Amino acid sequence: MNNLSDILDFCKDLAFDLHFKKAKKWKSSYEDRILVGYFPIYFPREIIHAVNGMPVGIMGTGDRKQIIKGDAYYQSYICHLPRGVIEMALDDNLNDFDGFIFPSICDCIRNLSGMFKLAEKGKFQRYFDYPQNFDKATGGLFYRNEMEKIIDDMYKINKIKLTPENLNNSIKLYNTNRRLIEEIYNIRQEFPWRLSAVDTYHVIRAGLSMPVEEHNLIIEEVISHISEDIGEQMDNIRVVISGSFCEQPPVGLIKSIEMAGCYIVDDDFMLGSRWIQGDVRDDTADPLGELVNSYLTQSPISSAVYDVDNPKGKRLVDLAQRRNADGIIFSAASFCDPALLDRPELQKECDNSGIAYITFQYHENTGQFKMIKEQAGTFSDSIKLWV
Ligand code: SF4
Repeated sequence: MNNLSDILDFCKDLAFDLHFKKAKKWKSSYEDRILVGYFPIYFPREIIHAVNGMPVGIMGTGDRKQIIKGDAYYQSYICHLPRGVIEMALDDNLNDFDGFIFPSICDCIRNLSGMFKLAEKGKFQRYFDYPQNFDKATGGLFYRNEMEKIIDDMYKINKIKLTPENLNNSIKLYNTNRRLIEEIYNIRQEFPWRLSAVDTYHVIRAGLSMPVEEHNLIIEEVISHISEDIGEQMDNIRVVISGSFCEQPPVGLIKSIEMAGCYIVDDDFMLGSRWIQGDVRDDTADPLGELVNSYLTQSPISSAVYDVDNPKGKRLVDLAQRRNADGIIFSAASFCDPALLDRPELQKECDNSGIAYITFQYHENTGQFKMIKEQAGTFSDSIKLWV
C-alpha cells in the first residue's frame, strides 16, 4: 500500500468501522488474544498490549448510526457520545470484546460503565479513576493500584502474566507511535496543506482498532509522503482547536473549518493517542512505575486533569504560540461539562494574551455545517484583514 490515497482510504474506512472487524479478526487468529475496549480520553494501552491484548478505542458513533435505544437510556440534556455507545452495545457491535474500561472524565461515562455492567457486556467493566493528586507516593500509588486491577482482570481471562520484559516492549512500541504522530503534527505545522486535518484525523483514529505495530508502519508511510513537497498552499489562517477531546466532532465539521480558510495546526481530537508528552522510559525493571511517572509528569492540557499548579489556560496559550497559530477555535460537544466549564478560564487567558478566538458547540452527529462554516470563514477573514 504505497500510494498515499490508498493509505488514506484504508484509514478512513477503518476509523469508522463501528463493527471493529479488523480487531475482531486479529483476536480470532490466536486463542489467548483478548480485545479490551476503552473510552475517551486516555488509557495506558501498553498494559493491554503487553498481555497479548489489543486496546481498542471506542470514540462513539459519529454520524454513522441512528440512535433509538440510546435516547431511551439517557436524558435529553447530556452529550451524544454515551447514547451512541450504548446503542452499539445493545446492537451487539461490541460482542467479541473481553472487557471495557471507562476512564473517569464525567458522570455520563460513570453511568455508562454501570449500564455495561447491568447489560453484562464483556467479562469485566472497569470505571478507571485517575489520580488528581500528583504526588508519587499518593496519586502515583493510587494510579498503580487502579492499573493493577485491570491487569488482574485480564490475567483471569487469558492467564498471560505481565512481565517487565513484555511491558517494556509495549512501551517502546507506543513511544514510537506517539513520536510518529507528533512528527505528522510537526510537518503539518510548517506545511499544513500537505495532509488535510480530516486525513490526519482518519490516520490517527484508524490506529485505535489495529495492532500498534501495523499502525506504526502506516504512519511511517504517510510521513514519507508528506515529507515531499506535495499539495498547494492556500491563503488560510492557522488555528488551534480546543475542547473536542471526548465526543468527537463530525468529520464534516473539521472539513468545514478547513474549507472556511483555517489550517488546523493543533487540536485535541484524538488526545488519548497523544497524551503522554515525550517518551516513557522503556529500559527499567519497573515499567509499570514508568507509566505512573509519565501520567503524573507528562500529561497534556486537559479538562480531565486538576491543574492548580500548572494552569491550562497558560499552557493553551503557549501551545498556540508554539504552533504559530493566529487564533483558537473553542469547539466542544453540547452539554460537555468538563469542556464547557473550563472554557471561561481558557478564554480569559486568551483575552489577557491578545489571542483571537471563536466558540461553538456540536453533536457528533450534527449534519448542518453552514453556520459553522460562516463563523469560521468570518474569523479567518477578520484575522487576514485586521490582525
Ligand atoms: S463529551 Fe463531555 S460530557 Fe460527554 S461523556 Fe465526554 S466528557 Fe462527558
